[in-house]
Amino acid sequence: MQGSRFRKSTDAYRQGILEGDRIILSQAITLMESAHEEDQRAARELLESLIKHTGQSLRIGITGPPGVGKSTFIEAFGKHLTEQRIPIAVLTIDPSSNRSQGSILGDKTRMHDLSKDPLAYIRPSASGNVLGGVAQKTRESMLLCEAAGYKIILIETVGVGQSETAIKDMIDFFLLLALPGAGDELQGIKKGIMEAADAIVVTKADGDNVARATLALSEFKHALHLLSSSDTSWTPRALAASSVSGKGLDEIWLMIQEFERGSKLSGRFEETRKRQRVQWMNEYFQQLLAQDIEQANLVEQKLNHERAVMENRVTPFSAAKAILQHYHEEIRKRKS
Ligand code: GDP
Repeated sequence: MQGSRFRKSTDAYRQGILEGDRIILSQAITLMESAHEEDQRAARELLESLIKHTGQSLRIGITGPPGVGKSTFIEAFGKHLTEQRIPIAVLTIDPSSNRSQGSILGDKTRMHDLSKDPLAYIRPSASGNVLGGVAQKTRESMLLCEAAGYKIILIETVGVGQSETAIKDMIDFFLLLALPGAGDELQGIKKGIMEAADAIVVTKADGDNVARATLALSEFKHALHLLSSSDTSWTPRALAASSVSGKGLDEIWLMIQEFERGSKLSGRFEETRKRQRVQWMNEYFQQLLAQDIEQANLVEQKLNHERAVMENRVTPFSAAKAILQHYHEEIRKRKS
C-alpha cells in the first residue's frame, strides 16, 4: 500500500508518464493497485487526465497452460519486436500459487533479456489481486503503458477457464499457446478458450519436438476449421513456433499485423474497442451500485427477509423486491 506520504502530485505522475519515465510509470501502476482510498482517488484523477493519450497501442492477450512456454515466448517475441524498434509493455498475471517462479522477481528472471531491454517494460500484477485470471487493475495499467508510449501491450494470463472472457474484453488479439503433441493436449483445452482465440500457436517446435508439433498443428487447424463461423471477418489460424530457434515468430508478427490492418479497414477494430469501453463502464456501474447498497445499511432488514425466505413464508422474489424498496427509502432519506 502506497499511502499519502509517498504520493506525487497528479501532474508529476502525468508528466513523468508522458515522458516515458519507467520509474514513474511503475509508481503510478502501484498507485492504481493501492487499496488506500486517497490513492484510489488520485489514481482516478490521473487516469482521467491521461485518457486522451491512451488507445494507440495494439493489445495482445497471450494465454496457455503452465509450462506451455508463455514467458519464453514473450521473451523471444518481445525481442523480435524491440529489434524492430517497437516499444513493448508486458503485463503478466499469474493467479496460480503452484508455480514456484510466480513472484515478481521470478517474472523478471523468467524474461531475463527482455527485462534489460530499454524498449521493453515488464510489470507483473500484484499478487492476490486477481479475478478470474485477470488482475483487477490490468486495464488501468494497460492504459498507463499506452500513455507512456508503448505500442504493443502483451498481457499474459494462465488459461484457467474463466479468464478468457475477462481478458477478451480488454484486448484486440488473443493468442492461445498449445503444447506440441496431439489428442490429449487438445482435449485439455477448454472449448471456450479455443473459440475465443484469434490464433493458436503450437510451441517448442524444435529438435525432437518437430514431428509432434506438426501433428498438433494439423489437429488444431482441423479443430479451428470445425469451430469457424462465417459471420466474422477474421478466421482464426494455427501456427507452430519455437522460442528457442526463433522459427515462426516473424510469421506470427505478420499475421497479427494483417489482422490489425484488416480489422481497422473494416471498422471492426474500433467497433470492438467501443464495445469494450462501454462494457468497462457497466462493470464499474455494477461495482458502484454494489458498494452503495453495501453502505445503505440494510443488514437488519435483509436478515428479516432472509429468515422469511428460509421459512418459506414469502417467495424469494417478493423478499428481494422488499429489500430493494428499503434501499430506495434509504436513498430518499439521504436526499432529504
Ligand atoms: P510458462 O509456464 O508457460 O511461462 O512456460 P515457460 O516459458 O516457463 O517454459 C516452460 C519450459 O519450456 C521451460 O523449461 C522452457 O525452457 C521450455 N521452453 C519454452 N519454450 C521453448 C521452445 O520454444 N523450445 C523448447 N525446446 N523449449 C521451450
